[in-house]
Parts: sequence; structure tokens; C-alpha cells
Amino acid sequence: MEIESASTKEILQWACSAFGKNIAATSSFQSQSVPLLHLISIVCPKLPVVFIDTGFHFPETLAFKNDLQARFGLNILVARPAIDKKELIRRYGAEPYYTRTDDCCRINKVDPLQQILENYAAWISGVRRDQTTTRRKLPVLDMQESGKLKINPMLHWTSQDVWDYIKRHRLPTHPLLPQGYLSIGCAPCTQPVHNSNDERAGRWMGNDKDECGIHLDLEKGRKSRRVKVS
Ligand code: SF4
Repeated sequence: MEIESASTKEILQWACSAFGKNIAATSSFQSQSVPLLHLISIVCPKLPVVFIDTGFHFPETLAFKNDLQARFGLNILVARPAIDKKELIRRYGAEPYYTRTDDCCRINKVDPLQQILENYAAWISGVRRDQTTTRRKLPVLDMQESGKLKINPMLHWTSQDVWDYIKRHRLPTHPLLPQGYLSIGCAPCTQPVHNSNDERAGRWMGNDKDECGIHLDLEKGRKSRRVKVS
């Protein structure tokens, strides 16, 4: 199989068969996450799906996660930061999500994910090439500096593909979508978007940051970028 041109379903089938219990997926449980979670529930329903609970999510995101878990029968694992909010504030100030965003994301997102991924050889992510300029360069099989294989089965999907899939399969969307929240992360760092084609325009608005860091291995330089499938 030529993995770069394989369908999302084929990539999931290959990944779950090749790695067995040694693979997990990650999800932020927003509207764009729904097609991949739906396909996981069909192709490999026991696959662990990691949700990073930063402690700063909208309550609606936590409710949506619970709704999708019940609806799809997902096997969700929750990753949490090693320090609590009190310690975060002691170290980085009262509003670290405005003044120390990179540190806040590292403590609350990147480190907890890395820790949970210690238990796996590979992980599946729902990133798409049309989301950011950095993501445009990603391959489907992405060997990371850590030695973990990151598998990106949604790369070729467009934003329109996502909405079409949700509509075709009558799947739910995040409860805050009608208010203009096209892409949703932590509450302090997400704004509604109106009159923009960029679904991530509301993330870290007014800041040149456009990634929390969990997908930034690309910029660190890797030993190997592409992996062959036999
Ligand atoms: S998205 Fe914002 S609140 Fe969430 S971890 Fe990053 S800086 Fe902190």
C-alpha cells in the first residue's frame, strides 16, 4: 500500500494492525475531530484516544467529549499536567496563558502528552494540511525526534471535507460552533471567528503563536521524515 495516497480508513486499519496495543490517538474533541473519532469507532474501537485536560477547557468541550465517548464507545485516556493551577501561577504569574503562552502550553499540553505517549510506539493525530503553513509540509508517516512514529491519516482532508462528512453521517458538532467557535482549544486562548475562511484564526488571537507545540516536531529537525510501509 502507498500510504501517502491511502484513505483515512486504510491508514487506520494499517496502523492498528501494525502496532496493536502499542498505538494511541490524540484528540482535542472539537468539531473537526468528529470524522476521525467516528472512523476510529468503526475501524479500531478499542484504540486509546488521549484527551489532554489542561484545566482550561470550556465546559462545553468537556461535555462534548463525554457525549462523543458515549455515542461512539470511545476508549478515552485523560492526560493531565504534573502541576496544579496554583503552582502554575506561582511559577509563571497570574495569567500565564496571556503572558507566558509557550510555558503554559508546555506544562499543560506538551509535557502531559509526551508522558502518556511513553507507553506507545506510535500515535495518531487528526492534523490536516490546510490548517497551518507548518502542517502543510507534514507526511502521513512522520518519525519524530523522540523515536515515536506520528501517523497523520487526515492530512488530505479539507475543512469542507470535514463539514461534508459530519453532515453526511448526521454527526454532532461542538456546542459552541453556532457562536462562531470554528476551532476550539483552551478557553483563555480561543475567540469566536466571524467572516474568516481561516478556521484557526480565533486561536491565540493577537499573538503570532499558531501551534501549542505538540505538532511542532517539524521545526526541530528530525532524524527521518518519511517511513516506508511494507
Ligand atoms: S492553549 Fe492557552 S491555556 Fe491552554 S495550555 Fe496553551 S497557553 Fe495555556
